Order: sequence, then structure tokens, then C-alpha cells
Amino acid sequence: MSESCSSTETKKNKSFAIPLVSVHCGESEQDESVEAIPCPVCGTKGAYVKIITVRHLVEKELIENASQSDYRICMDKKCNVAYYSEDLSIIFEKNDLKVPLWFKEDASPRYACYCSRITEEDVFRAVKEQKLTEINAIRQYYDPEGKCHCNVKNPTGKCCTNAFNEFIIKALGRLDKIEE
Ligand SMILES: [Zn+2]
Repeated sequence: MSESCSSTETKKNKSFAIPLVSVHCGESEQDESVEAIPCPVCGTKGAYVKIITVRHLVEKELIENASQSDYRICMDKKCNVAYYSEDLSIIFEKNDLKVPLWFKEDASPRYACYCSRITEEDVFRAVKEQKLTEINAIRQYYDPEGKCHCNVKNPTGKCCTNAFNEFIIKALGRLDKIEE
């Protein structure tokens, strides 16, 4: 497992360029090869999540007797389901987790980066006040010593890069509106 999400070198962008880089932790996408299992509640096809991630994020007393199989995560923003086991015998709802799922519509706070606990509002402030528009720069600003543990800290078990980028783009959009 690589220690850091931030493998690309930081190019000095001229202030407000929209970041195009997609940095990965080095974990390969595995969704293609696993069987698609729809969420038992909303029917959305869930993404594969390793048991180790589920174990880290579900409240301790709930996970103790849970099945050892791997899980799926329901990415539907309205559905209350967070994780479900492959045989559908176990369902963990979003409130059974220690952290809010950023993509659920009522998430609060909404984390862009779980490893460094950087929220959507933190991203907005960094973009607005520090003129930072790159993930690595924002991470560095808030958490210089930060290490990437997305495999156990991010609820999807994957690097937060894509979600983080969306928050940056959203922040830039919000700023445009303010400045108009
Ligand atoms: Zn669902």
C-alpha cells in the first residue's frame, strides 16, 4: 500500500486553473472484475469494498459479529444504506458508521479527505483565502504531516482524489458566483 495519494509532482499553477490531475493511491480499480450486486434497498449497483475498510468504519459494537465476507457500498445519495454484505445478510446504514458518508445528501460535515479530516468548507476556505486549487497543496496546507490511509479511512476504501477534485471545482464555482 502506498503511503501517499500525492504521487504526481506539484506543478505551480497560475492561481485559478481547474485541476485536471487524477492522482491515485496506486490501488487498481477492481470494480470491473467483481460481480455487481444491487443495494437491497434502493437497487443501485454498489461498489466493492474490502472487509478491512468496513471493519474500520462501522461502529465497533455493530461490526463484532458481522460476516467476514467483502462488502458493497451504496453510493446512492438518498439511500440510508452504507454497506451490505455480498450475500445481503448484513446491512449497515449510514448512521452505523463512525463518519458521515460525504456523498449522502445529509452528510455533515462533508469530508473531502478523510485521512486529514478536510471538509468541504475547509476546501472552500483554502481556495478562497489561500488561492489553492490543487489537492496536494490543500492537504499540505491543513495537514503537512498527513499520511494517506484511504484504504481504511475513506468509506469507499479508495483514494479521495475524485471527490476532493469535485469539491475544489464546486468551491471555484461558488467563488465565481460571489464575485459576479
Ligand atoms: Zn441503496
